[in-house]
Amino acid sequence: MLKTNRKTLAVIGAGPKGIATAVKAKVLEEFGLPVDQIILIEKHSVAANWSGEFGYTNGEMKLGTSPEKDVVFPMETDVADKHLNERIKQRLMHFTWISYLVQTNRFSDWVDRGRPAPCHISWTNYLRWVSAQLVPQVSIVSAEVLKIDLNAIKGKWELSLINTDGNADHYTLHADRLMLTGPGQTRMDFLIGQPMPEKTYDLESFWAAMKNKTFQSTGRLAIVGAGENAASALLALSQYAPDMRVDIISPKGFISTRAESYYENQMYSQPERNEWDKLQVKDRIDFIERTDLGVFSTHAMSILNEQIRHKIIPGRVISLETKNGTLSLKLLYGVKESERVYDQVILASGFDQIATLRQFLSPRALQHLEHALGEPLTHTKIAESIQPDLSVGGLFPTLHLPMLAGLMQGPGFANLSCLGRLSDRIVTLPTLERLQQVQPKPQRLTLMDGTL
Ligand SMILES: Cc1cc2nc3c(=O)[nH]c(=O)nc-3n(C[C@H](O)[C@H](O)[C@H](O)COP(=O)(O)OP(=O)(O)OC[C@H]3O[C@@H](n4cnc5c(N)ncnc54)[C@H](O)[C@@H]3O)c2cc1C
Repeated sequence: MLKTNRKTLAVIGAGPKGIATAVKAKVLEEFGLPVDQIILIEKHSVAANWSGEFGYTNGEMKLGTSPEKDVVFPMETDVADKHLNERIKQRLMHFTWISYLVQTNRFSDWVDRGRPAPCHISWTNYLRWVSAQLVPQVSIVSAEVLKIDLNAIKGKWELSLINTDGNADHYTLHADRLMLTGPGQTRMDFLIGQPMPEKTYDLESFWAAMKNKTFQSTGRLAIVGAGENAASALLALSQYAPDMRVDIISPKGFISTRAESYYENQMYSQPERNEWDKLQVKDRIDFIERTDLGVFSTHAMSILNEQIRHKIIPGRVISLETKNGTLSLKLLYGVKESERVYDQVILASGFDQIATLRQFLSPRALQHLEHALGEPLTHTKIAESIQPDLSVGGLFPTLHLPMLAGLMQGPGFANLSCLGRLSDRIVTLPTLERLQQVQPKPQRLTLMDGTL
């Protein structure tokens, strides 16, 4: 039951980011700190996207980051009280990957095997083990968020939900703050409003087709994109259809790997210590492009190095359509356009957060966001506005978008590299402000038409 005098933070998705946020809130609340009430809303099940049942994996793929970068890593929560900090850290230790292995009698086995990267299903089991310990402080609601609107009178987000746990009742939930998680929709802006042609797969339908064994294992295949999702698809195909020839469409015309060096990793784990915010924006973009977006992990690369049936085609897809029973891809590389023909195409072309926001936000909420940031709404505009608490700048009620926080706050906030730090930005920071009795600036909802 919600306490009426507390603010609420609704989190869409009980994946690693939602769970990390919930753990931090639980622990701070156990120590009597004034935290917001967290409500995790999950349409499938905890860590659904890692289990192999949904999302972009069959569950057997290996986790790219170390599992020790768990939901509390790097465990540096600071509530400005040395003694309390120590006790909070001791409590946080209960939610680590290592603690999970110890409690489930897997620890010595894992160490003796050389601390292997767990597969996604093992990571799912860890997250579910953590989630089982969240009560009574945090509840997980089984529901799908259909729409996000604004409630002008209450000054809150108003979420339209459908129950996914038994009956399909519709209801409304109000929240003072809102966080979106998950990778978002597959980027396919080159389709320009047309439906996805037959035999074209986004990541979700590709993994579903692999699971149902309906993916055709012969013919010409193109994978659009040269990042970790393309690598995962290639790895899965190397077992499913080992003789298949695959063209990898890469905007750069080559595939690169991360160095996974101390210096790179530190930038992900410790953006503040490494002064991420003092780097020039162009250097931050360069860092993200070299280490995160459109990059294969060394693990994936070492396996794919041995495969000879893949070819890299330089170019950016500008159109995709069915022609004479085949799929025609138009590519642009520099100023040169070319056309290529395939039987199947997998879109591993990254994620489109603007499309995700447009899908969820009501016209009024979207207008409110555009009013805060200026029209037209672009990825860059939102990314450049992201505040230390990972929320969109100038927007009230607060909307946290960690997947877009890399540029301004640190590259690790967009992924799993510093989940404990992410939860500090979302949970501990507002708690500290409350403790220090920082009066929040008076906030008013105002739409361009003056209705709020
Ligand atoms: C296959 C894959 C592997 C990756 N591996 C790594 C890695 O090893 N290391 C790393 O740092 N990053 C990795 N990433 C990138 C990134 O870290 C993750 O995509 C992402 O951050 C996962 O955490 P999350 O909590 O944001 O989202 P998710 O784990 O995707 O959770 C989102 C949840 O939201 C739920 N949901 C979605 N829509 C609704 C709705 N309308 N209503 C209610 N619930 C909803 C979903 O069911 C899901 O459970 C990987 C990404 C992918 C796709």
